[in-house]
Amino acid sequence: MPRDDVTKIVLDESEIPTAWYNILPDLPGEPLPPLHPGTMEPVGPADLAPLFPESLIMQEVSTDRWIDIPGPVLDVYRLWRPSPLYRARRLEQSLGLAGKQRIYYKWEGVSPAGSHKPNTAVPQAYYNKEAGIRRLTTETGAGQWGSALSMACAMFDLECEVFMVKVSFDQKPYRRVLMRTWGATVHASPSKETQAGRNILEASPDSTGSLGIAISEAVEIAAQNDDTSYALGSVLNHVCTHQTVIGLEAKKQMEAFEDKPDVVIGCVGGGSNYAGMSYPFAMDVLNDNAQMRFLAVEPEACPTLTRGTYAYDFGDTAGTTPLMPMYTLGHDFVPAPVHAGGLRYHGDAPSLCGLVKAGMYEAKAYAQVPVFEAAVQFARAEGFLPGPEPAHAVRAAMDEALAAREADEERVILFNLCGHGHFDMSAYDAHLSGKLGDVALAEEELQAALANLPPQPQPA
Ligand SMILES: *Cc1c(COP(=O)(O)O)cnc(C)c1O
Repeated sequence: MPRDDVTKIVLDESEIPTAWYNILPDLPGEPLPPLHPGTMEPVGPADLAPLFPESLIMQEVSTDRWIDIPGPVLDVYRLWRPSPLYRARRLEQSLGLAGKQRIYYKWEGVSPAGSHKPNTAVPQAYYNKEAGIRRLTTETGAGQWGSALSMACAMFDLECEVFMVKVSFDQKPYRRVLMRTWGATVHASPSKETQAGRNILEASPDSTGSLGIAISEAVEIAAQNDDTSYALGSVLNHVCTHQTVIGLEAKKQMEAFEDKPDVVIGCVGGGSNYAGMSYPFAMDVLNDNAQMRFLAVEPEACPTLTRGTYAYDFGDTAGTTPLMPMYTLGHDFVPAPVHAGGLRYHGDAPSLCGLVKAGMYEAKAYAQVPVFEAAVQFARAEGFLPGPEPAHAVRAAMDEALAAREADEERVILFNLCGHGHFDMSAYDAHLSGKLGDVALAEEELQAALANLPPQPQPA
């Protein structure tokens, strides 16, 4: 039985993990390599050299299960890590649960940028600085990644140039100010700064932008300048690996609660926070036959895992990145401007997609009104205000608990509360004044974007 005298577990600083977990060697089946879109040959480290420092490229392709966390990175992690893990006692009460269904959440909103993103922004800034890079470019959706990287660049004395998806640039002015406070330059994307941006603006002057478009812009600048690297906030292996500090801490904390999750839940935009939370648990399922369910949650407006196609696709809209094997909605899919800006990406991390394809991970999509209803119920019970993205995980965790209560089954639910919603007040305002609508995604719209998938490799 779990400890009933504890609400949260706060680990000592000395218990911050000293190595990240790399799931690559443990994944089921042969890994599918990323492909060069021109030759359809596997992409080698040399192909990535214009964009990333060698140390991160080596991590990207590494098959070492554990990767040591450098000392200077640990020194920064110490500012907010280990993050606390809570038993959601008051939420359980508000749902009428009596202890047979238990809900736990890991709280990543305690970082300076307010989300899990600094877990990878800090090491990426560190490795680039070590490699002699002067400036980083990146894209940002809701502004979470842009702020995290701006902060990390400030700490390692790097310049930072951020392309922010236009709809968020307009909806979330304060994220922009936060980035500028940390010293970054911020452009609304599509912008006139790059050829990729100018092309989009010519075709659709009113474009609200997308992560895919913003990536094209940031990549273009990094590719053209030797002293500039590109930094990606999700999707890639090294990003997912850096995020595993979340799950590694959570495992220790669940042990301290003397409880074990039956289901691990997280929201998925590109997959990094959920990978970070779930992979250290999946390690036990893959290697030691542990029993556990995994549930990835996404918005109905951008249903990559639940309605996408498993195929090779570009990571960006302009088609400049390597082709990655993943569930995708098509690289030029532009999702409706839902408030969970961080979940508006057409693809997902190949490792996570592989686990869904293998049937080990489940996926579920929610419309935004029930998601905000869950966020408000959570805030009224637990106090913390979820970002619109992790509110998807809150919704799913509540529904898991209620379904188990209905079936009179014991169920231990763990989810990642990966960021706060303090910059999302206009979204909460829209919800509280009944102005939030749900946007159904028509099958024709989905098929139209999927029709533009690049040519697929032929089976050997
Ligand atoms: C970026 C972000 C996401 C989506 O990205 P993942 O890589 O899927 O984690 C979700 N929630 C928050 C708070 C974010 O900042």
